Amino acid sequence: MTDDALPFVLKALAGRSLVLVGMMGAGKSSVGKRLAAKLNLPFIDTDEEIEAGARMTIPEIFEKFGEPYFRDGERRVIARLLESGPCVLATGGGAYMNASTRERIAKASVSVWIKPDVEVLLRRVRKRSNRPLLQTADPEATLKRLLEERNPVYGLADIMVEAHDGPHEIVVEQILAALAARARAAPEGPRKVRVELAERAYDILIGEGLIAQAGPRIAALFPRARAAIVTDENVAAHWLAPLQQSLAASGIEAQAIIRPPGETTKSYAEFALVSDALIAAKIERRDVVIALGGGVIGDLAGFAAATLRRGVDYVQIPTSLLAQVDSSVGGKTAINSPLGKNLIGAFHQPRLVLADLATLATLPEREFRAGYAEVVKYGLIDDRAFFEWLEAHRAELFAGGPARAQAVAVSCAAKARVVAADETEQGARALLNLGHTFGHALEALAHYDPAILVHGEGVAVGLALAFRFSRTLGHCAGQDVVRVERHLQAAGLPIRIQDIKSLTASPDTMLEAMRQDKKVERGRLTFILARGIGESFVAKDVPEAEALRFLEAELA
Ligand code: NAD
Ligand code: ZN
Repeated sequence: MTDDALPFVLKALAGRSLVLVGMMGAGKSSVGKRLAAKLNLPFIDTDEEIEAGARMTIPEIFEKFGEPYFRDGERRVIARLLESGPCVLATGGGAYMNASTRERIAKASVSVWIKPDVEVLLRRVRKRSNRPLLQTADPEATLKRLLEERNPVYGLADIMVEAHDGPHEIVVEQILAALAARARAAPEGPRKVRVELAERAYDILIGEGLIAQAGPRIAALFPRARAAIVTDENVAAHWLAPLQQSLAASGIEAQAIIRPPGETTKSYAEFALVSDALIAAKIERRDVVIALGGGVIGDLAGFAAATLRRGVDYVQIPTSLLAQVDSSVGGKTAINSPLGKNLIGAFHQPRLVLADLATLATLPEREFRAGYAEVVKYGLIDDRAFFEWLEAHRAELFAGGPARAQAVAVSCAAKARVVAADETEQGARALLNLGHTFGHALEALAHYDPAILVHGEGVAVGLALAFRFSRTLGHCAGQDVVRVERHLQAAGLPIRIQDIKSLTASPDTMLEAMRQDKKVERGRLTFILARGIGESFVAKDVPEAEALRFLEAELA
């Protein structure tokens, strides 16, 4: 490693551990020791750690207690080691096969798969084999089968290097170079997605720390303007002061209007209150309203901006995952009527969207998961490759790694594309409702009570229902349905109506709620269905009787 690469290597690690994964015999220990010396970190071999703890060799543990016992111990040892500060960790060949270990590794470290040369590996196996998994009649065949099984999983690691029959130093240098390249490739500035709407076009910026940079960015768009921030109590507690500081540093004194959190804030009464507060704050036509919060605040503040003095500009600073990937983009603003959700609203595009990923650190985990359902939705609508990328990066994304920025950017770009093609929802935008006909019905049956169900959870069940309904109607193959279900479940999301605790639903009440959501013509409903992952389509004319039969089977 050249000396100027070291800062980049350290940047890539950012205080995390380096974990080596891969088959036995790939040289993880020798490489790990050398890496640790270069990085000035402790080196730990998990197998040695386990052997020392058990005062037995691994073959002995296998023989005496069996593999499951060993795997369980291995999982616990790795979890403990990862919690005790940065180090270089060499893991046993099977460790990375455990999903919960993989998740911990993704959270606390940069993982490196050392992919061995198969010929070298075979040669070593022929020479000596004290490896318990290779104590079979035909160790070579067993090894080949293991490689086939495991390689796709090792492929989930952050970095892959190939080891050949040379000195370990080469592998060490390769790993350091890959780490440095990773840090160099990390974009310095935020990512940008443009919403192409001619004179109403605007940028969505996605990155860490955008709230701290909000002042100059907003001042540049609105010179000498007054600003008012609309937010809710939860968000204000974490993010209002940094935003006000940044604005003040750019000469913008922004008054804050802080409202209670929750869907009930999208009401006539709150709309009146916020509007009056904006008038009291002397917000005029050339001024700006800043929505700082989740979808509730974005919809309410956006609607207030749309109607105040027949329309003033606004900036979205979405702080929930759902708001970052969905509601802050596209200019739909609304409040609820006692007769239904989002019935009073306007199309009013923001002038700028600042999606600060740092805000997601304070978002409750349940809300993060719920927002993730909307991310998955974009893959299911028309982007199978994105869905497959999510399958491989979900753990990293939940852990807050670079995959998060990527997922938010891809989602925003997908929404921006649809919005640019169909700003006021005459046609193409309908596909964005995949999973939502069922989801909205579930929300209505839960009386919009977040203790029972939040929007994204309804969407998760709705997506699974849309895929199962597509299968029932003969549009979609079973494997894709199972894949969608597995992915949502792995993210901790519900996939069946019965998964929603304390919800009372029957086929009839579900159908009735769906009728409210969508107009019914001659006993026929419109659904967004799928021919597979990434192949959604609008199905008009689905007979109500089919939907009822499907719901009866679901709820049986
Ligand atoms: P939300 O605004 O209620 O936020 C969810 C919860 O998280 C709230 O309690 C909020 O206070 C809290 N929160 C948000 N960001 C936080 C942070 N960074 N730290 C700590 N707490 C935080 O709900 P939501 O899921 O963001 O949005 C749902 C709303 O969005 C619904 O009203 C829905 O109708 C609307 N929506 C609108 C559109 C659109 O195109 N306009 C699209 C989808 C959804
Ligand atoms: Zn939604």
